[in-house]
Amino acid sequence: MSKNNFNMKKFEKMLNDTKKQMVNDALKADYDYECPNCNKTFKISIGTNICPQCETVVDLKPDDSWKKF
Ligand SMILES: [Zn+2]
Repeated sequence: MSKNNFNMKKFEKMLNDTKKQMVNDALKADYDYECPNCNKTFKISIGTNICPQCETVVDLKPDDSWKKF
């Protein structure tokens, strides 16, 4: 019986799948955002969002910290 029967490829694939899932979840998530113009709090997601009150356009981009994924 080999000591090297740990399947690294399978393990790496599992890790990658988990990371992808985390990124997907983050991309789909809604965030509470306070409008810089009218201070109304509303939900935004990644992409272009428009304040429902004053129609200020808010571009939400993935954070730099996401690069660690
Ligand atoms: Zn607003």
